[in-house]
Amino acid sequence: MKAEKNNVVSFHYKLSCAGETVESSYERAPLVILLGKGSIIPGLEKSLLGRTVGEDFNVSISPEQAYGQRREDWVQRVPKKYFRQSERLVPGMTTVLKTQDGQRTVTIKKVGQTVVDVDLNHPMAGKTLDFDIEIIEIRLATEEELAHGHAHGPGGHTH
Ligand code: ZN
Repeated sequence: MKAEKNNVVSFHYKLSCAGETVESSYERAPLVILLGKGSIIPGLEKSLLGRTVGEDFNVSISPEQAYGQRREDWVQRVPKKYFRQSERLVPGMTTVLKTQDGQRTVTIKKVGQTVVDVDLNHPMAGKTLDFDIEIIEIRLATEEELAHGHAHGPGGHTH
């Protein structure tokens, strides 16, 4: 069976960037997704189409097909009250900020008395991502999974 849109695909991945390993699913469980729903970056989703179980391949994904280009001027001053109180803010660290558009990963640039300057670029923006992929399982999605738009079961949503 070849992976197509609306199939549930389980795969292991190793992500590296400029020759350094960033993360690997081998330390956890395979990632399970409903293919074609945009739950992973576009370039990675495309690379899974037509693959078969047991296939092992490498794919290099440009920023446009991953987290986009960096915008150097994309820095914003945010009142401290918008950050979790328990969190100690240190320049260079990443944290999650709640915005009107949902949660957003930001990088702390400067910490003042009452305000914090944050870089709104995704930490992986502007980077070419190299994935080493191994396809573990491909199956048809259930009616319920298609209705919900995500995979269920181990590795997927458990609700
Ligand atoms: Zn569901």
